[in-house]
Amino acid sequence: ETYMPHGGAGHRADQLATLELLTHETFTDKRVGELLTELTPLEESSDAQSFDGSLIRVTRRDYDKATKLPSEFVEELSRAQNAAHFAWIEARKEDDFKSFQPHLEKMFGLARRAADYLGFDDHPYDALLDNYEPGAKTAHLKTLFADLRNQTLPLLKAIQAKGDATDYSVLERPFPIEKQRQFGLEIARALGLPEEYSRLDVSAHPFCTHFGPQDIRITTRFDEHYFPTSLFGTWHETGHGLYEHGVSLELNRTPLSGGASLGVHESQSRLFENLICRSKPFWEHYYPQLEHLVPEVTQGVSLEEFYKAINRVGADLIRVEADEVTYNFHVMLRFELEVAVLEGNLKVADLPEAWNAKMQDYLGVTPPDNAKGVLQDVHWSAGLIGYFPTYSLGNLLSVQLYNAAEAKLGNLHEMFRTGNFAPLLEWLRENVHQHGRKLLPHEIALRATGKPLEATDYVQYLKTKYSAIYGL
Ligand code: ZN
Repeated sequence: ETYMPHGGAGHRADQLATLELLTHETFTDKRVGELLTELTPLEESSDAQSFDGSLIRVTRRDYDKATKLPSEFVEELSRAQNAAHFAWIEARKEDDFKSFQPHLEKMFGLARRAADYLGFDDHPYDALLDNYEPGAKTAHLKTLFADLRNQTLPLLKAIQAKGDATDYSVLERPFPIEKQRQFGLEIARALGLPEEYSRLDVSAHPFCTHFGPQDIRITTRFDEHYFPTSLFGTWHETGHGLYEHGVSLELNRTPLSGGASLGVHESQSRLFENLICRSKPFWEHYYPQLEHLVPEVTQGVSLEEFYKAINRVGADLIRVEADEVTYNFHVMLRFELEVAVLEGNLKVADLPEAWNAKMQDYLGVTPPDNAKGVLQDVHWSAGLIGYFPTYSLGNLLSVQLYNAAEAKLGNLHEMFRTGNFAPLLEWLRENVHQHGRKLLPHEIALRATGKPLEATDYVQYLKTKYSAIYGL
């Protein structure tokens, strides 16, 4: 994504497929199952949080999952994904849902079969969700999201009713790419991402990858005429990178390394991107530096105006560009549709209409076409059903963790005002990062914050922040 010539994609795909096959065959070998059985007495006599106890438990969980899907099914899925992906690219380009519909029906059908293979107690969606957010339950999400929806919809409507005559052109002033890079990276370093163990490159879609806690690679993309893309993108990926970097070295090269789930991962990226880098105290510290670096961008723009601009609430049609207030509505919409299709209460053919109706209900906008509606995300074409909720779980957890850290450490905004992020990072390492995959997401929430994941903290955060910005 960063250095390989485009034409090399075929070779790389072959190499990866070979590696994946070998990894899968080695890991699902009957002998691994026998070894795990032999280790049961050791697991039972070990403390659940000990290295041995965790290693056996987590490896068994992975092994059970990996051996539940028959290889013919995995092959069928892989072929269907490939076909669906290319059909989706065409369908989105041509705004032609009908041509994608049979592929999407196939993907939902395969997802339903995967749920049966993987097994579930209450809801087939639980089995799919568990692939991305181990231990999460559909019933809990339904309550959580209903809370979130009922409490943030009035806030959004109030913001929309208020009207907004702010001039947001500061965001589009030319900001030389080299300077964006310099500023974004300097702050990533100040947030705690060490130069010795990480690097920043450019890719079409920003991501964070790692080859162990001491080799963290993040990417961003640059737009000279819209700097928030690169800056907040860099700091978002910094949050992911700090998580991986903070995983205990003792867990490296074992199944316990890496993040606990997509949701917990996203809680870290959102915490750094939004709770730190979109906060006013952060900019009280950094705005003078920005003014010094690019006076042509900040000319005539007060700190207050800049802060409002980077926190603009708009009813965007596209999820990835959504602000903190509207973002979760994009996710809830997808979650509700996925569950409805899986339950058999909604036909794939009726998805575009259902999508548009929900967009109208939640955000008050209707997509002009399916390319900007039901066809906008790549996920469904890749069979990633059960994935979307993790984005919102991350948002909710980010604030709940932040509040718990603040209760322990004192006023974090005062620290940000002087560019001091170390105490917060230290707390996150201790309570989240170091554990790797030892703890399940709900265990992390409970241990670190003293309560299960709820919508309360996030809703309160939105109300306080955006009532002040919009003078509600
Ligand atoms: Zn992310």
